[in-house]
Amino acid sequence: MRFDVLTLFPEMFSGYKTQSILNKAIDRELVEVHVHNMRDWTTDRHHKMDDRPFGGGPGMILMVEPVVNCVRDVQAMSDRPGQVILTTPQGERLRQPLCEELASTHQRFIVLCGRYEGFDQRVIDILKPMEISIGDYVLNGGEVASMVLIDSLVRLVPGVLGDEQSSWDDSFSRGNRILEYPQYTRPRSFEGHDVPEILLSGDHGAIEAWRKNQSLERTKQRRSDLLE
Ligand code: SAM
Repeated sequence: MRFDVLTLFPEMFSGYKTQSILNKAIDRELVEVHVHNMRDWTTDRHHKMDDRPFGGGPGMILMVEPVVNCVRDVQAMSDRPGQVILTTPQGERLRQPLCEELASTHQRFIVLCGRYEGFDQRVIDILKPMEISIGDYVLNGGEVASMVLIDSLVRLVPGVLGDEQSSWDDSFSRGNRILEYPQYTRPRSFEGHDVPEILLSGDHGAIEAWRKNQSLERTKQRRSDLLE
């Protein structure tokens, strides 16, 4: 799976790319993350990316020309044009079923990170990207949102997780779409809190039944909307 991230702050991705699961997936050539500075596509002397909104109002707007030119050039860097995704609080909410659908239908994503008051509407009208929001709150920029997207998709690339089963059993996932059961590891007892006996019993059938029940109870208590 290939990601091309378009941003004004490419340095935000340097630490992110070198950590943990993503780093290993890149090393094993299962995932590529290419970060492009949209400012490199400006044509004026001052490398201007933003301007004041027509009609007045606060803040600055990302200009259509460098953004569209950047996307077109980046698309041409690989034989697959890729799915263009624009991060915005106004987009479709990112949820696990959408992550699963994206991961199973696309091999390449071009992710646009907004800043300031966002993009000139014509970026959307011309490129017709999929608009994605990571939640009902407003971030300063699309970089963190694009990291959330990348993180959620990378987990679904075959071979990236040590155990494929875990991306089925995780909360919200295709295994059952409810919350995961509680988990424990050593020690068996800590400050009077003991690991449930059943998990030490070695009875796999009973453990599975207990986990299923815990998942259901937890979902009922915390997220009954998932059971509807
Ligand atoms: N003025 C815009 C609005 O009200 O819809 C918000 C702009 S926000 C300050 C700047 C950028 O952060 C956006 O262009 C987008 O890329 C990103 N962003 C902010 N909140 C987001 C969210 N919930 N999901 C995805 N991206 C978000």
